Amino acid sequence: MTYTVERSSTMHTILDPATEEVVTEVAGTSAEGTDAAIATARRAFDSWRGVAPADRARLLRRFADAVDEAIDELAALEVRNSGHTITNARWEAGNVRDVLHYYAGAPERLFGRQIPVSDGVDLTFKEALGVVGVIVPWNFPMPIAGWGFAPALAAGNTVVLKPAELTPLTAIRLGELALAAGLPEGVLTVLPGKGSVIGARFVTHPDVRKICFTGSTEVGKQIMAGAADQVKRLTLELGGKSANVVFADADLEQAAATAPYGVFDNAGQDCCARSRILVERSVYDRFLELFEPAVRRVKVGPPSEADAEMGPLISAQQRERVSSYVEGDGADVAFRGDSPQGRGYWYPPTVVLPSGADDRVWREEVFGPVVAVLPFDDEADAVAKANDSEYGLSGSIWTRDIGRALRVSRAVEAGNLSVNSHSSVRYSTPFGGYKQSGFGRELGPDALDPFTEVKNVFISTEG
Ligand code: NAP
Ligand code: MG
Repeated sequence: MTYTVERSSTMHTILDPATEEVVTEVAGTSAEGTDAAIATARRAFDSWRGVAPADRARLLRRFADAVDEAIDELAALEVRNSGHTITNARWEAGNVRDVLHYYAGAPERLFGRQIPVSDGVDLTFKEALGVVGVIVPWNFPMPIAGWGFAPALAAGNTVVLKPAELTPLTAIRLGELALAAGLPEGVLTVLPGKGSVIGARFVTHPDVRKICFTGSTEVGKQIMAGAADQVKRLTLELGGKSANVVFADADLEQAAATAPYGVFDNAGQDCCARSRILVERSVYDRFLELFEPAVRRVKVGPPSEADAEMGPLISAQQRERVSSYVEGDGADVAFRGDSPQGRGYWYPPTVVLPSGADDRVWREEVFGPVVAVLPFDDEADAVAKANDSEYGLSGSIWTRDIGRALRVSRAVEAGNLSVNSHSSVRYSTPFGGYKQSGFGRELGPDALDPFTEVKNVFISTEG
């Protein structure tokens, strides 16, 4: 298969999504610049893999400390570049710090095994892969970068990182902080610019041994096809259309009060957004009654304000895309929250009632503050409806029956489920998708495995 790589990236103007003001201009890396960075990363790998485990751990801890000291600065950058609320942006920068600290424990714990065999000793080693390409989307620029680079570096790889063209500012700053903390040149290199230039070159360049991609299912599939040519290792975190399943025996007040935050956080631009709400038919009307004031209470406004709960969408194009599912399709809007008028890519929290499970708004990832609600009849129907999706990333189950909570958790085809809450992400627990939401797991104890090869060595004790 031929995978097309464009040659040049131009200047990209960064706009503040809350005001449409120009923040700055960022020069895009060319294909030649990408090749040069990959060559530097390849040379850096020869020494980085040999750094004593305790020293590699110490450098990652110093990097974490540097991120911690820069939390206010990083958060302010994210507010301007991405329109994230200041509360979220601070959490996101703190998440990079925490993920670095967590994986700083890994270099000294990359254990192999000693396997009993006859006539000798058998050992396994977890070896680093080489240069890893991390491709990051615009929705969570900091956390998703950290989930890739922290375990990759801990396992002894070097990293070339491509932030989304729309949101490169925090990644560029993280690259500077890594250098300032003492990571050698070429160990973590941030390459702002276009996916069709830099990301595509990661796919075709033989020295990039693995790609860790988060983004759209469409581009993920292209990368997967392109990676086949060199049997390149791949982790894919793609889209989602997660279900929030509310049973009649649940704490309905709590389920309704929290449901807006399960989908409208980050203005719905979250692959874990619980954008399909399934409610048991006997409590469907009551749930909607409770849900309406909860949606109207969501505080949508300038993201730099301390009490803002939802900011704008990332771009005019994204707003158009989101609107196509509601205004475009003439969806049945049940109720809406508020949003500022005037400049900025604002879109109000919106609840729609689809005519059935075939509606586009029920099936496709909207990636905006739009949630669809449908009733279900019984447990079997709830599971069938939840699983009637090409995606399988996350989901929530609301019930007071612990047996049911466990049965439904096991039956729903998704990688991250929460019972009586909407939590998907902890740095110490695995995160990733079923079906077309991707494969491979990030975070938690298993995330080092996809950044290493297992090598087996047999040593004869005979003769
Ligand atoms: P996207 O195109 O998949 O972008 C994700 C990353 O891949 C960006 O860094 C992008 O660079 C890069 N990229 C684009 N084309 C590439 C290629 N041919 N080879 C290698 N890398 C490439 O996503 P999008 O266009 O920003 O968003 C479109 C939709 O995808 C959203 O509306 C949403 O439904 C979904 N999405 C999902 C997630 C998620 O977390 N699962 C994240 C973002 C978007 P550029 O920035 O230069 O394009
Ligand atoms: Mg795209």
